[in-house]
Amino acid sequence: MSQIQTGLLVLLLTFLGVVGYNIYENETTPEERSYSEFVNLLEQDKIKSVHLKGGEITAEDTLTHSFSTYAPDVASLMPLLKDKKITVTAESAAESWGGSMKAMLPIFLILGGYLIFSRNQQGPKADFGKGKGKGFHPKEKINVSFNDVAGISEARLELSEVVDSLTNPEKFSVLGGYIPKGILLEGPPGTGKTLLAKAIAGEASVPFYSIGGSDFVEMFVGVGASRVRDLFTEAKKNAPCIIFIDEIDAIGGKRSGGNASGSNDEREQTLNALLVEMDGFDSDETVIIIAATNRPDMLDPALLRPGRFDRQVTIALPDVKGRRKILEVHAKKIVLARGTDMSTIARGIPGFSGAEIANLVNEAALMAARKNKTAVDSGDFEDAKDKISLGLERKNLVINEKDRRITAYHEAGHAITAKLLPDTDPVHKITIIPRGRALGLTQQVPLDDKYTYSRDYLINRIKILMGGRVAEEIIFNHQTTGASNDIVSATDIASRFVCEFGMSEAIGPIAYSQEQDGHLGSTSSSKAYSEKTAEQIDQEIKNLIGQCYKETYDMLEVNNKFLHKLAEALLVNETVDGEEFEIVHQCFLNDKKIEENIRNKQKEG
Ligand code: ADP
Ligand code: ZN
Repeated sequence: MSQIQTGLLVLLLTFLGVVGYNIYENETTPEERSYSEFVNLLEQDKIKSVHLKGGEITAEDTLTHSFSTYAPDVASLMPLLKDKKITVTAESAAESWGGSMKAMLPIFLILGGYLIFSRNQQGPKADFGKGKGKGFHPKEKINVSFNDVAGISEARLELSEVVDSLTNPEKFSVLGGYIPKGILLEGPPGTGKTLLAKAIAGEASVPFYSIGGSDFVEMFVGVGASRVRDLFTEAKKNAPCIIFIDEIDAIGGKRSGGNASGSNDEREQTLNALLVEMDGFDSDETVIIIAATNRPDMLDPALLRPGRFDRQVTIALPDVKGRRKILEVHAKKIVLARGTDMSTIARGIPGFSGAEIANLVNEAALMAARKNKTAVDSGDFEDAKDKISLGLERKNLVINEKDRRITAYHEAGHAITAKLLPDTDPVHKITIIPRGRALGLTQQVPLDDKYTYSRDYLINRIKILMGGRVAEEIIFNHQTTGASNDIVSATDIASRFVCEFGMSEAIGPIAYSQEQDGHLGSTSSSKAYSEKTAEQIDQEIKNLIGQCYKETYDMLEVNNKFLHKLAEALLVNETVDGEEFEIVHQCFLNDKKIEENIRNKQKEG
């Protein structure tokens, strides 16, 4: 590095220090108000004094309330302040910050950044501060790596390719590889989406720009959109880099068309600006946009189109193994008493997110400190858990043992029905980790994209859906509401079986409209029908489901040992993947063989 470059680097770091300091300061001020409110007060002569630190303004109104706000453009504010004869104080070189220096800052930074980090010198150093665009978070030095993100091996695998494309864009494009542009991380709060985005930046040693979706919308009309443009301009200059947009649903929610309030206008403009920016990339500009949301269902479909956030990675709450790994990552930061068993602790906190686990470790350390202990032991974890669970109970996250058992058998019922029937999709994953309103989930993944379905396939689908309720009946001899979704889906398939696919023998291949229950799938060309036909249709649907239910019952009853085996595995591990399921299946088949042998021997002897 030449002397000039070193000099620039020092200059750069000083600037960033000041910028960082300002942001820190801002976080400790009492109240935040919008810039428009500030300007309003100013125009009504209700501002007494103003203190400037770069773009951050601390103002005191005539009622001596002090509040803070952010000025998108300080330079244009100065004449107004002068006009109103406001007492302006400023920190360090604030006069010039507010004027020409502020305007020149990005130029300095970009120039410095260019000289120091110009492409051919790219190395691991490239991960610290380059410029800061107006208003968005300056890039932090990212020292997060994949090792800091535990228990999400699936997502990690998928995202290591992204790291590759960032560190080695040439290789990627030479091979004709498609560099992903937008990645949507979806999952409940606290599951490590932000952490993961940072880890990608850290692993690839590229700059990381972070902004919250709601940061765009708090502003008045037009500012959100221009912030998006600023952000992308800045990011492109620093490519390859990562832009992280947290809570993208704040701007990317479905456009309703109705309710034309100002904030909606603003949101739409911002969203449009984002779409335009994402579409307007050259292939050599490797800017990867990672967005996070816990409401993927709320997103505007335009965001999910090819070339935009077309890669979606789901991050679920961790299972018991994942929780243990996350515990281990965070326990590195504390002194652990010997013999503290992380598996036991992990087992005791079903439903905890990564953030809650981090909090647990922290609380446990505090508990130990309060008791003047030299190390944190399992008792401290127990106490911390009780303290945190009290808060969680209200969120309905902690499930009681009885519900867990019922859920385990319910999911086992689905999975085993799928396994034992021919012509079904393979079971990919079974879990009793609650997600949204569902207590558990059995995931099947089709081997190939299906466009047509055979009669058997549809009947087996209904049986698989029945399997949950059937298992509950066989084992506990009672019914729960846990199966209500299954029943809705099964009824839907059965009525299409009869009315749309014409597969019922009694009705024949005639399409009947199902408009009464508001189904969208019905075609206008379908036949209107008489009261009598309606009765027939109802009867056919009922027969079909009844038949499926009975056959599933018989099948699961005969194989109830398989049910017990899988439910036990679920209760211990919470998640059973396709491979593990196959192992449980083989164990069951083995046991069955041994039993048969014994029976045969008894007959002979
Ligand atoms: P999200 O963005 O999904 O809401 P965050 O990434 O902000 O979640 O997670 C908050 C904190 O919780 C992280 O900084 C980290 O300390 C902890 N955490 C969450 N998930 C994990 C994980 N998988 N591994 C390790 N720590 C985690
Ligand atoms: Zn179910």
